[in-house]
Amino acid sequence: MLGNIEDLGPKHQSISILIVEDELRYLESTRLLLDRHVDEIIAAETGHQALGILESRRFDIVLLDLGLPDMSGHEVMARIRQHWPETIVIVVSGDASIESAVKALRLGAYDYLRKPYESEELIKIVRNSTQKLNLHNENRHFQQRLQHSEYLHRLLVNSSPDIIYTLDPEGRFTFLNESAQRILGVGAERLIGRHYDEIVYRPDREQARYSMNDRRTGERATQNFELRFKLWPEHTDCRAQNDAVTVELNAMGLYRTASDGQREFIGSYGVARDISERKRAEATIAFQAYHDLLTGLPNRALFRDRLGQTIVQAKRLGQKLAILFLDLDHFKMVNDTLGHLVGDELLQAVSLRLRGCLRETDTLARIGGDEFLVLLPHIRSNHNTAVLAQKIITSLKAPFHIEEHELFVSLSVGAALYPDDGETIETLIKHADMAMYHAKDRGRNGYCLYTRELDNSITGRLDIQTGLRRALQRGEFEVHYQPQVDIASGQIVGMEALVRWRHPEKGMIQPADFIAIAEDSGLIGPISDWVLQVVCQQAHIWQQMALPPITLAVNLSARQIEHPDFVANFSEILKAYHLDGSRVEIEITESTLMRDIEGCIVKLKQLSDLGVEVSIDDFGTGYSSLSYLQKLPIHTLKIDKSFVNSLTPDLGGASIVNGIAAMAKGMHLNLIAEGVESAEQLAFLKAVGCDAYQGFLFSKPVDSAQATRLLETQPH
Ligand code: C2E
Ligand code: MG
Ligand code: MG
Repeated sequence: MLGNIEDLGPKHQSISILIVEDELRYLESTRLLLDRHVDEIIAAETGHQALGILESRRFDIVLLDLGLPDMSGHEVMARIRQHWPETIVIVVSGDASIESAVKALRLGAYDYLRKPYESEELIKIVRNSTQKLNLHNENRHFQQRLQHSEYLHRLLVNSSPDIIYTLDPEGRFTFLNESAQRILGVGAERLIGRHYDEIVYRPDREQARYSMNDRRTGERATQNFELRFKLWPEHTDCRAQNDAVTVELNAMGLYRTASDGQREFIGSYGVARDISERKRAEATIAFQAYHDLLTGLPNRALFRDRLGQTIVQAKRLGQKLAILFLDLDHFKMVNDTLGHLVGDELLQAVSLRLRGCLRETDTLARIGGDEFLVLLPHIRSNHNTAVLAQKIITSLKAPFHIEEHELFVSLSVGAALYPDDGETIETLIKHADMAMYHAKDRGRNGYCLYTRELDNSITGRLDIQTGLRRALQRGEFEVHYQPQVDIASGQIVGMEALVRWRHPEKGMIQPADFIAIAEDSGLIGPISDWVLQVVCQQAHIWQQMALPPITLAVNLSARQIEHPDFVANFSEILKAYHLDGSRVEIEITESTLMRDIEGCIVKLKQLSDLGVEVSIDDFGTGYSSLSYLQKLPIHTLKIDKSFVNSLTPDLGGASIVNGIAAMAKGMHLNLIAEGVESAEQLAFLKAVGCDAYQGFLFSKPVDSAQATRLLETQPH
């Protein structure tokens, strides 16, 4: 495309000459004379012959005798002028009349020689014409190079991705490259002669002054200056929904040194780079830093920021504000059993509904899996907060339809008010969290306003998270044991290990209050490992005491099973305490199973090979599918205590327990019931063929010393 640059370089021009002469004597002497001065000499004796030769090739010079035998020299001249105008014609004639010479010169002859002529005369004329030819050629080369260089520059300027322009001293465009059309949707043909204001986005016009038409040069000129240009309606780009494009501008003054040596300002020159792509990326990053990507809601950082500002304002104006801590009840179950995609969609749908309950000025933020914070500026009283909390709770009453599922969601709300319940971001969030936690404790799906009494009773989730980290190191965990009794013989056949946290200030904390948090924060792994270790140690001790052999049941969380070394670690511990696998049973819930059913099948099979039995805990509360259950190496179904609890004729639990019992029988599984508190319940369970039970009726979970005593004292 750029052509071959070498072709254009200067080069020696070889000169060719055609001598048209019918007198051989002249012809020969001329040839001899010119031989040293030109590179090529061809001769023709007639006009026709000369024209024939000229047809076939080009000559630089024709030395033409006017008196030819076949046609007039003037005629030949005219033809040469017409067809080969660049060829230099030197006319030679024996005709002494001046007319003939004038006519030849008029016809465009370069010079005229009268026969007979001096040899110097001829040589001089030929040399002059050669010089003229060389000059002409050089000039042509130069022109070509100039054109080429201009073409190159134009190409470079136009293929630049940036808008390149020049302005006259008044700020009117004198040049614009082709990028203007691409970037703005308007080209040079419409902008040349117009003021640069026409392309500057209106709100930025003030800023553009003195930058687009900067008179300064060098380091003081406009550098990397951000500005917006207006997009023309013709702009077809997909970003046409924007009406401006952000550019980075570099501009400087253009000067010419005038004849008197003065520098004269002749306008300015600028390069504007389209940086809208970068701007968009920056905006996305900024958005991501302050928003939750799933729901598009503000995140914790933005919430804290807004809360901080609102506190300052409330303080100045003597106003109150409230924050609500929202936590969906049992959301994890949805996620675990129906998958993350359904979980995500549910969260999006829930956020929409929540947002619908709030005013424009309220902030709703998602701060974690299923946790939300609401900021309510200018709240007049507790009552208003309670009304809103109730409105939120009620708004979730209607089911959500996600894919083919109909899902019911409830949530627990805790509230804290500024300045009554706290004056800083931290205390307000912490107290709202505590209140929410209290609401959950009271049976979920409820609302609780923070009060000072909560400080002593219930520990907030945030406290628990930090406390858990220390609890392991400080040895604050304990394992309690609850006997599992064979219904037929009344003998203790097993013990379920249940972890407890003896908090130095708050006293005993039940697993329901920290297991879920430990799972969310990843602390469940080390806690569970510790429990398993303690349980195996206990089994070893009891084995050494030669007590009747029993099975110890350990609860496992999904996280634990998902750990790649889970099976290896498990068998390590068994080995360390010289335990047979049959001494340990694991309890897992349906939701744990469903999280990664294929992975579970493999790992549970491996455990099963070690002799470890598997029991499905809280059976009946999840969504497990029978076809999957059949594939798993399961030994026991554990009827959830909620069904046992409703084992009265009017509560309808009986039919569910009946159903589970029939199923267990059909699948040849053991059946155990938990939460058995009354003799009636036990009688019912016995009647349906339940194998074992566990519950307050026999014993609450007790510490290891008491458990040992129970085992020692039971009749053999
Ligand atoms: P779970 O495995 O279903 O444990 C049975 C729960 O029922 C225990 O609650 C137990 O104290 C309680 N319970 C026993 N008998 C009765 C009764 O007659 N009536 C009533 N109302 N309740 C009874 P706990 O100890 O609070 O444990 C709660 C849950 O925490 C457990 O439910 C289990 O899922 C989990 N958990 C306990 N320890 C661990 C552990 O070491 N690791 C893991 N991952 N989870 C654990
Ligand atoms: Mg259990
Ligand atoms: Mg259970």
